[in-house]
Amino acid sequence: MKALVYGGPGIKAWTEVPNPRLENSTDVIVQVDTTTICGTDLHILKGDVPAVTVGRILGHEGVGTITEIGSAVTSLAVGDRVIISCIKSCGHCVNCSTGLYSHCLGDEGASGIGWVFGHLIDGTQAEFVRVPYAENSLHKIPAGVTDDQAVMLSDILPTGFEMGVQYGRVKPGDVVAVIGAGPVGLAAIATAGLYGAATIIAIDLDENRLEAARGFGATDVVISGSADWKEQVFALTDGAGVDVAIEAVGVPQTFSMATEIVRPGGNVANVGVHGKSVELHLEDLWIQNINISMGLVNANTTPMLLKLVAKNKLAAEKLATHHFSFDQFIEAYDTFSRAAETKALKVVIS
Ligand code: NAD
Ligand code: ZN
Repeated sequence: MKALVYGGPGIKAWTEVPNPRLENSTDVIVQVDTTTICGTDLHILKGDVPAVTVGRILGHEGVGTITEIGSAVTSLAVGDRVIISCIKSCGHCVNCSTGLYSHCLGDEGASGIGWVFGHLIDGTQAEFVRVPYAENSLHKIPAGVTDDQAVMLSDILPTGFEMGVQYGRVKPGDVVAVIGAGPVGLAAIATAGLYGAATIIAIDLDENRLEAARGFGATDVVISGSADWKEQVFALTDGAGVDVAIEAVGVPQTFSMATEIVRPGGNVANVGVHGKSVELHLEDLWIQNINISMGLVNANTTPMLLKLVAKNKLAAEKLATHHFSFDQFIEAYDTFSRAAETKALKVVIS
């Protein structure tokens, strides 16, 4: 089969590799019909994620059709059309039983990033992928849900919802600010309404992204870095500060911005992955009674979000701005990595 293989910092190839095989009785092989590229793949390609070694097939988002099933898999069948969760999880270990799929202990005793596809196990940017713990890591797709919709439920929508909206404890009537209107921030904007946020302020450097944010439900937009950005946010909250500030960029500056605009007693939900250390000014934050949350997505809300997508209550497909075939994988990466020029949100490869 062909797959997108990591060849070391700056090197990737769409190339021939051996087909994956069933290794455990709980495995399933999925023929990938549709996949996409995440900002994390660009980080890996820069060499920022040393845990990913040469030869790894990248990708952790995908939709496909089951071609082979392990002997212990009873709830899935060959031919089923499924969403591949970004994280494989057993569903029954001590961490999974509390919903912390990102820290699944599985039977192999590992945890954390190793369980995300395209990191320590081969990923979805391929014609076929082996999915361990298939019964918990795959979700059957109801008729009527398109691949463009379903592929956003592997990672992007659950990340914005779980790490932004749920961890940020958004409640009815809240004023929510989302810093960073990339795919993850847009997912937080789109799902903040599920818990009744009254005002959703999108903050970004890029006017195209802010325009997209309005399309996903932002009620107000603020250009990040403008001289009076903070005054604009406070003006939108009658001087009080926001109830929830969601950081969806992953740089120290935007984490600080979140702490500067949150009201006393409010919540800062950090979604961004920070490559550099962030200064935490406890001397300022404690007196404001600020709650801070963060973490790796669990993707345990994919089934719930899928129901909303199926009923057209969440327009997941609007994130799919560019389409490519598998043979155009390198072009797809190029388009995605130049998102500021190409206006790409998510590139979809089918
Ligand atoms: P992206 O790079 O596509 O989008 C980031 C957005 O932030 C862009 O629109 C950019 O213009 C904006 N931005 C950059 N600097 C800014 C600034 N100073 N002020 C305001 N906006 C600024 O990224 P994405 O795919 O949307 O992902 C966002 C973050 O979420 C990344 O750090 C990613 O690694 C992280 N992420 C976290 C998890 C998790 O499990 N917690 C999962 C997936 C992605
Ligand atoms: Zn587990």
